[in-house]
Amino acid sequence: MNAPLVVGTIMAVGSLAYVLQPLFVDDHPVCPACGRRPEDDAVYCSSCGRRLERGGGGDPE
Ligand SMILES: [Zn+2]
Repeated sequence: MNAPLVVGTIMAVGSLAYVLQPLFVDDHPVCPACGRRPEDDAVYCSSCGRRLERGGGGDPE
């Protein structure tokens, strides 16, 4: 087995997963009235003022 090739492949896959991670972990808040909001740290909707819900579900609060 070609060890350097295996190590290189693992590093490539790891870095690729790291780069693509934000695409799979959608932590953007969602307004019940307006839908998904672009501001990922917003608490209230900038359009209608409703409290935003987190779509990820990983938030302990
Ligand atoms: Zn809204």
